[in-house]
Amino acid sequence: SSSATDSKDLRAKLVLLGDSGVGKSCIVLRFVRGQFDPTSKVTVGASFLSQTLALEDSTIVKFEIWDTAGQERYAALAPLYYRGAAAAIVVYDITSPESFSKAQYWVKELQKHGSPGIVMVLVGNKADLHENRSVSSQEYAEKNNMFFIETSAKTADNINQLFEEIAKRLPRPTA
Ligand code: GDP
Ligand code: MG
Repeated sequence: SSSATDSKDLRAKLVLLGDSGVGKSCIVLRFVRGQFDPTSKVTVGASFLSQTLALEDSTIVKFEIWDTAGQERYAALAPLYYRGAAAAIVVYDITSPESFSKAQYWVKELQKHGSPGIVMVLVGNKADLHENRSVSSQEYAEKNNMFFIETSAKTADNINQLFEEIAKRLPRPTA
């Protein structure tokens, strides 16, 4: 059946990490509300939103999304948000090498301290600004066994695909 209590249905805690300004909040807003607000506010601490996604095999995945603040002074709080997370989206801005360095820092931190088996995805956001691209991270992603995708929260390019790819990679209940 496809009822809300279907045993195939999944709930997944998901965290977004990455430098301030790379577009984490805009990615979440695009996915959850289908909107892009260029005047959106800087995230303070962290914010929580949830969204469900129906997969082709009719599994319903409920994402519980923790969108963190990228500022240094909140970095010490990050473990509170990625602890117990089934998936992590590490975001950088394709026009910003500094943001890619920061993304590599988060990948290492998750490799060391994330839940075993956490689904880690590397996202190069602001793909609409490809004329100013200064980061190419395919090779890095492959080396670190991460799924990699470029997105644009502005144009919506690859936003749903991002969450679908995460959903597909979540461990399925064995019973
Ligand atoms: P966060 O600090 O990572 O949460 O970043 P925000 O979501 O607050 O976005 C930071 C800035 O980047 C804002 O001015 C957004 O309008 C802009 N932005 C976010 N996503 C995109 C995108 O895909 N393309 C472009 N061109 N700008 C974006
Ligand atoms: Mg934010």
